[in-house]
Amino acid sequence: MDARKIRAAVFDIDGTLALMDKDKGTYEALPGAIAALDACRARGIIAVAYTNGTFFPPAHYYPLLADAGLVLAPGHILTPAVVAAQQLKRLGHGRVMVTGSEGTVVPLVEAGIEVVGAGPGAGEVDAVLLAWAREFGLPELDAAAQAVWAGAPVYATSVAPFFAGAGGKRLLGVSGAMAAAIRNATGVEAQVFGKPSVAGLEIIAELTGVAAAETAVIGDDPKLEIRMARRAGALAIGVTTGVSDRAAFEAFAEDERAELVVDRLDGLLDHPVFA
Ligand SMILES: [Mg+2]
Repeated sequence: MDARKIRAAVFDIDGTLALMDKDKGTYEALPGAIAALDACRARGIIAVAYTNGTFFPPAHYYPLLADAGLVLAPGHILTPAVVAAQQLKRLGHGRVMVTGSEGTVVPLVEAGIEVVGAGPGAGEVDAVLLAWAREFGLPELDAAAQAVWAGAPVYATSVAPFFAGAGGKRLLGVSGAMAAAIRNATGVEAQVFGKPSVAGLEIIAELTGVAAAETAVIGDDPKLEIRMARRAGALAIGVTTGVSDRAAFEAFAEDERAELVVDRLDGLLDHPVFA
């Protein structure tokens, strides 16, 4: 491995820093995660948490993670909804139909985007954004399909099939299920803002002032964090505390594979790449 100077570390949340207990709505820190964030602080490495989930607006994650002992600096927790809001704005989409809930709506509204609920009578929209929602049904899917048939581009916060929950349980990826439904109906593939799109790392590089080449990405999913990191030229580090074991990380071609795989985050920053 090359000896790059790493000045920023982007941690995935679910399966990497912590696991969520969906019944209790709380997080539990994974082994070594608290120590890894402490080590970042001690060495002046900027730590960012970037989840692929959009259950909550970013503001909700700070106390949830802090209760689990994981403390991030203000502005340093990102979700695909934050990335979507910034990128939709750049694309000039001022009026956007959103299938998601508060976790998606809040960052868009904060970015000055007019958010239209997915339902009958939504009117003309510039784009459709498919995102996590606890409840959705035919009216939402139909409204999204109608907008796409009318020519609106379609985006998704994530199309991951599932992610890691407490007790080894897989949690269904809702926006991916919606994107599959829309593709089935319209033939249009949703463009993804969340991982493995590099859109999030672009926003993070602006936040940290650190280029991708000097940024490490740490995650439990080779198809999400590792793919995103390799595409952007960041250092890709896999951790086996979530959805993937070592064999799963190694089952990729060399240029798509994690450059380092660890079983827990303890001592991660003692690796020579962080020297
Ligand atoms: Mg994960």
